[in-house]
Order: sequence, then structure tokens, then C-alpha cells
Amino acid sequence: MTTIAANLQASLARIEAAAGGRKVRLVAVSKGQSAASIRGAHAAGQHVFGENYLQEALAKIVQLKDLALEWHFIGPLQSNKTAAIAQHFDWVQSVEREKIAQRLNDARPEQRFPLHICLQVNIGNEASKHGLSPNAVLPLAQAVRALPRLKLRGLMAIPEPDAVLAPLRFKQLRVLFDELNNEGFELDTLSMGMSDDFETAIACGSTMVRIGTAIFGPRVPGRAVGLQ
Ligand SMILES: *Cc1c(COP(=O)(O)O)cnc(C)c1O
Repeated sequence: MTTIAANLQASLARIEAAAGGRKVRLVAVSKGQSAASIRGAHAAGQHVFGENYLQEALAKIVQLKDLALEWHFIGPLQSNKTAAIAQHFDWVQSVEREKIAQRLNDARPEQRFPLHICLQVNIGNEASKHGLSPNAVLPLAQAVRALPRLKLRGLMAIPEPDAVLAPLRFKQLRVLFDELNNEGFELDTLSMGMSDDFETAIACGSTMVRIGTAIFGPRVPGRAVGLQ
């Protein structure tokens, strides 16, 4: 068995043990990894991949066109990238502004299913962090719900890597998720948990974990900007 296949199997076993019978989806985060590595993970049974940088992702999406993969955009969004993202991805997990949501909606091709969306929440209200402040989530959720080419699926967050604070943040995101559903939303995706904290996130209610290095090993620096 290859290292990637063994790592994938080990991650899936840990997810299953932490989930205790609940269904938790795995997004294999492939930023900084080669198309060959993604192909290896696919051969080992993984179909869902996450990327942060458009140029890097597009190169790999083209090289892997022969595979039936589900692509999640999980990185920072810029207005001038929204059209390509709406055309080439299945999910966008990092929506934090109405203007960006509108642009994704407008660029989503008619012949494809509506783009699946998560709102990224800065759940700890940290300075210099991406994501909406928690009290801005409801109005953006309402705006996204009104856009026909988008389908709001849930919330995503990346809490500070702190063993004490992270569980608190995961629970706060879960509370916000439940509040939206009590307001009549039908969200099914709570995207939280990465290589170092996914079991904690699952214990706090995560339905989708985003795991990179635990599957693929260290990222190649520079690949993201096309240097390698
Ligand atoms: C890079 C990244 C991950 C994966 O991080 P690992 O620590 O390698 O598992 C998950 N989510 C987002 C948004 C990321 O940018």
C-alpha cells in the first residue's frame, strides 16, 4: 500500500471512531500537493478534494479531468476569481461577503447544479482572520438563500490551534448552526476540523472535516504560486 493510501485509511478509521455512527464527510485538502498525489488518493477511494488557490487548483483540475472528483474551494475569495471558481468547483466553503455570493451566483453555469455554499465564520472574532463575525451570519445566510444558482449547505470555521480554545469555538459554531436551522434554514453541513483537531471537532458536532497533511504529508512550498 502507498503512504497516501495508508494515511487515508488511517484518517478514515479515526473519523469513523470519533463519529460513533454519525456520517462525517472527508474533504482531502490537496493544496501544495501534486496531481499525482490526488490521483493516488483517488485510487485509494477518495473522491472529494479541497483547494485554496485558484491557479494551482485549475492546473490540477485540468490534469485530472478523466476522474469523477468533487472539488471544494476553501481559500480566500477575490472578486476577479469568482467566475472561474463558479465554473470549475462544486462547493465553495469560504463565502464571507454578499457581493462575492452574488458574483458566484451570476457565473454559475445554467447546466450545472447550484453551487454548494458554506459561510466561513470567524467564530473567535479574531483580528486579522478571514470569515464573518458571528452576528453577521444570519443576514448573509438570508441573502445567499435568495440566490437561485447557489445552495446554502452550512458553516465553516478555522479556529485558533489551541487545545483549550478550539473545542469552545467548535461548540460555538455548532450553536450558531442550530440557531440558523431553528430560523427555518435547512443546513446539513458543519465544516470544522483539520489534521490536528478533527477528532475534537467531530466530538463537537462536525459533519465534514478538511484534512491535508495527515493524508498527503507536508505541503510543497511554492506549488501554490506555481513555482514547483
Ligand atoms: C490547509 C487547510 C486545511 C488542511 O489543513 P491540514 O492541517 O493540512 O489538515 C483545512 N482547511 C482549510 C481552510 C485549509 O486552508
